[in-house]
Amino acid sequence: MCYNTGAMTRTILHVDMDAFFTSVEQRDRPELRGKPVVVGAPPDQRGVVAAASYAARTFGVHSAMPSREAFQRCPQAVFLPPDGERYDEASRQIREIFERFTPLVEPLSVDEAFLDVTGVIHLFGDGEQIARQIKDTIRAETQLTASAGVAPNKFLAKLASDMDKPDGLTVVPTDPDEIAAFLAPLPVGRIWGVGKVSQRHLEQSGIHTIGQIQSFDPQRLARILGQHGAAHLHHLAFGRDEREVETEHEEKSISNEHTFTHDCRDYDEIRSVLMNLTDKVGSRLRASGKIAGLARLKLRWQGFETITRQRPMNPPACDDFSLRAMATELFDNEELIKPVRLVGFGVSNLTTESPAQLSLLMDEEKERLRNERLSHTVDTLRQAFGPASIRRGSEK
Ligand SMILES: [Mg+2]
Repeated sequence: MCYNTGAMTRTILHVDMDAFFTSVEQRDRPELRGKPVVVGAPPDQRGVVAAASYAARTFGVHSAMPSREAFQRCPQAVFLPPDGERYDEASRQIREIFERFTPLVEPLSVDEAFLDVTGVIHLFGDGEQIARQIKDTIRAETQLTASAGVAPNKFLAKLASDMDKPDGLTVVPTDPDEIAAFLAPLPVGRIWGVGKVSQRHLEQSGIHTIGQIQSFDPQRLARILGQHGAAHLHHLAFGRDEREVETEHEEKSISNEHTFTHDCRDYDEIRSVLMNLTDKVGSRLRASGKIAGLARLKLRWQGFETITRQRPMNPPACDDFSLRAMATELFDNEELIKPVRLVGFGVSNLTTESPAQLSLLMDEEKERLRNERLSHTVDTLRQAFGPASIRRGSEK
């Protein structure tokens, strides 16, 4: 009954409005179009730029810059106070357009979001065609432009949406070799999580492009950035990213994971961590008022190869006993072929109703309800006295 889900190729869009606040202002005040416009604090006061139009950016004005400095660089710019209501209105319109295409929308801010369109390709066309339709709809209905990236994961989609602004559309290849070639010429600062400090460290070691990281000796990289940072960077340098698009609306799945500080080969230690994760997932599941129909174990070996094993929960449940039993079963089925870097447990196929067949299983049902009640009690105690207040016999 176990099967691997690791190989599925997803289609992720990142859609990002172009110079959002100033574009809304220019839309509503045509006399400002094409001009340098700054939304933010007035230049004679302390405070910063919230957004700058493209014309203002050519003068070196950018968001988060003190307004006083923006004024020095571009005295002819029109400075406007932010009009949150109008931006919110446009933000809601855009969000509503996204949701016509997929329910899997993860907003990152008022003007950008990830969309997982994997499951709707048969309805609307491939990722590029969907991105085109979304951009066209946004333009038609809001008179604003957006840039989009289409890619097999979030990291690449976000990178891509920024490559051809404004009004851009960039499609990242799906083949791993082509992805590596796509990333190779880009500066290391474009990698998600590489801030100014890491970038400086890397550049001091002669690393300027993502391609250089791809071919850099991992041991040397670890000496520059630490073991964990180096592994993260190496992974992303090849465009690998498994984060799912997470919606606010309704949780499709609930999961928790743990990364070991040292790769771990100790079955008991991993199992003990896994039980802790399972209890956290159980608490979140019960707090959402749902029961789960599928349990999933995730293991990442040393070296970043990741496996996922899942199996249906029959009957669906939300109590710690059932979840622990599933987690234990999935884990005990796995041979630890390498030291473990990360372990995770998750549940999905969440529903609110108890399935009809449960009424046929009276004793099991009673047992399940008893376990559910007990688990709820555990949650209440944890809330009142902290997570460490309840430990089961199996925990150290
Ligand atoms: Mg934007």
